Amino acid sequence: MILLDGKKTSAEVKAVIKKDVEEFVSKGGKKPHLAAILVGSDGASETYVASKVRSCSEVGFDSTLERMPSQTTEEELLAKIDEFNKNADIDGFIVQLPLPNHIDEQKVTTTIFPEKDVDGFHPVNVGRMALGQPAYISATPYGITQMLEQYKIETSGKHCVVIGRSNIVGSPMSILMAKNSKYANCTVTLTHSRTKNLEEFTKAADIVIVALGKPAFLTGEMIKEGAVVIDVGITRVPDDSKKSGFRIQGDADFKSCAEKASYITPVPGGVGLMTVASLMKNTLAAAKNEIYG
Ligand code: NAP
Repeated sequence: MILLDGKKTSAEVKAVIKKDVEEFVSKGGKKPHLAAILVGSDGASETYVASKVRSCSEVGFDSTLERMPSQTTEEELLAKIDEFNKNADIDGFIVQLPLPNHIDEQKVTTTIFPEKDVDGFHPVNVGRMALGQPAYISATPYGITQMLEQYKIETSGKHCVVIGRSNIVGSPMSILMAKNSKYANCTVTLTHSRTKNLEEFTKAADIVIVALGKPAFLTGEMIKEGAVVIDVGITRVPDDSKKSGFRIQGDADFKSCAEKASYITPVPGGVGLMTVASLMKNTLAAAKNEIYG
């Protein structure tokens, strides 16, 4: 079994970005600038945003973190987005999800200019990605494809089963894996909570991408010998042995899956770090006007 090391791989991706930024700036380009809006103070969201800000400084970007209280109205948030859309110094920005219930996530996503939507959630970017046109690709699926690429995992003609059909992970992932391109060309089955006999699909899969948010859901018994397991799940589960009182658990039961898998991503230290590295890649592309010219 080979561990798909997100720490090592994301560090490699970020080293390339850092070099690229240095070159870009030395030729008179502006330092890329990523901004993030965080509404409320959800513990997990705080951690994700902190990691994104830290990564910006590692690769030589400027960053702005805009904190807004949990009682922020939808109107106030949309006004802030409008301000960032118009701020020429900001190349790309994200609104950290989830948002408080009183704010319409879809409205927020569609208000961000596609040209600045480095999370790749805007319908224009999702549509362009699906059609194979230049687009910001949603950071988690993008990170997974980069991981497959870095480890040169053969995917062509393989059966890939994706568990979970969310707009930010499962659905775009299924589209990317089915594309006629290197590190894709899979036959894809997209599964969800209404899928009957899920195990029949996972047992037949060469690659299983599990993104449903249920800790240790995918067990070794559900996969075939030699399968590639990509674990997207991040759930905080109570753990008294930790100072924080919790540990991070993926959607795969690591121990039993690792006994059968050919490759597997750990949690933490897998897909999450690649997601952040991909966000940096998208931001660099935004600063260089590579997607929208
Ligand atoms: P989500 O929006 O909650 O979607 C969950 C999906 O799983 C839904 O499509 C749901 O089906 C499906 N599902 C639920 N129970 C199922 C079951 N028993 N069998 C098969 N499918 C089932 O989740 P998400 O935003 O995609 O996130 C999934 C996990 O990934 C979470 O743990 C999240 O924290 C994590 N995540 C990690 C990263 C990262 O960077 N590593 C990024 C984003 C998310 P229905 O559509 O039928 O309801």
